[in-house]
Amino acid sequence: MKIAMVSEHASPLAALGGVDAGGQNVHVSELSAGLVRMGHEVTVYTRRDSTTLPDEVPTPAGYRVIHVPAGPPRVLPKDDLLPWMDDFGVYLLGVWAADRPDVAHAHFWMSGLATQSAARPLGVPTVQTFHALGVVKRRYQGDADTSPHDRIRLELDLAKAADRIVATCSDEVFELVRMGLRRSSVSVVPCGVDLDLFTPTGPVEPTRARHRLVTVGRLVPRKGFDVAIAALPQLPDVELVIAGGPAHGCRAEDPEAARLLHLADELGVRDRVLMPGQISRERMPALLRSADAVVCTPWYEPFGIVPVEAMACGVPVVAAAVGGMLDTVVDGGTGRLVPPRDPDALAAALRRLLADDSARAAFGASGHDRARSRYSWDRIASDTVRAYQRINPSEQGAGSVVAR
Ligand code: UDP
Repeated sequence: MKIAMVSEHASPLAALGGVDAGGQNVHVSELSAGLVRMGHEVTVYTRRDSTTLPDEVPTPAGYRVIHVPAGPPRVLPKDDLLPWMDDFGVYLLGVWAADRPDVAHAHFWMSGLATQSAARPLGVPTVQTFHALGVVKRRYQGDADTSPHDRIRLELDLAKAADRIVATCSDEVFELVRMGLRRSSVSVVPCGVDLDLFTPTGPVEPTRARHRLVTVGRLVPRKGFDVAIAALPQLPDVELVIAGGPAHGCRAEDPEAARLLHLADELGVRDRVLMPGQISRERMPALLRSADAVVCTPWYEPFGIVPVEAMACGVPVVAAAVGGMLDTVVDGGTGRLVPPRDPDALAAALRRLLADDSARAAFGASGHDRARSRYSWDRIASDTVRAYQRINPSEQGAGSVVAR
């Protein structure tokens, strides 16, 4: 198949850990690579956000990345990109009219808008992965939600217009059904993990304290790093590494980094919180392996690749019982699920786990088995192709048009 991946803000070539570069970038990159390994031809379309980017970049994994001119060629917050999606769609229409893909798979709702406007006139089947839903974001972030005003309505229109939805976890299916979508139009295909990179053996970063907890992500409030900091006073002899966000030198300019450090100061645990900034892909496994447990305590989480990366490294995961982690983390099997935004519950679960070497070893081993058997990118790629094949040619294009 000739597959077009559209990912307006999340380039597979971006460095990870910045405010808008995380799981979606990994997903698009690894899924594309997996599809190429299956023999498919994959082109990723992402917005040109720098004047220095070439128009087209071949990747070692065998897919190409096209930098689409849409809006100013500089980094913009993803929530500010809506005005440029018409231009993005016009560009796609031009390219696809000359060289028609067999399927167009859009990642994030704005990519979906551009994809629909180009694919419909050409009769190209469309697949939508939301990665995050506006309705969930609004529920948890309230007034702090910077999404464009119409997001929730447009996402519903988009969900109905796409020929197939690929959700990354069962919780997302519940949300989509609650929004009014037919269950039968949704396939669930999770995100995967690079099982050659994330392994239980290999280098391990040195630690300073008796126990180490590691938490990883874009440095944004909804990742709930403050919950892990707030649990620390109840966990003596434990250091907490918060990976992601700005490099050490520019922490002062990052409001979330400043907020977290201030909280650590107030709670008297500042000397036990390490914030090394953005961690490269190559270094990430050694960091995860250095942890007695990896902690993931977001307010909500559309999927959460980090817990699966930790499991692949054989490290137990203590996670908030939300979103994708309800599928990936088995409570009492590969780690512990705790109520979200509850530092006391987190501290209690961690205290028990840190005191029990054999439980940690057993959770780590089961996590590793689970990651290997369920979350290889090869498996994710073939399940994604199965979702593409479930598009019924007689119904294709029968979905409604997205009106903006
Ligand atoms: N990541 C990274 N370096 C960092 C921070 C994050 O490589 O400094 C990677 C992390 O290993 C994972 C992805 O970025 O692969 C984050 O994905 P996740 O689904 O956990 O969160 P999202 O960013 O999608 O909210």
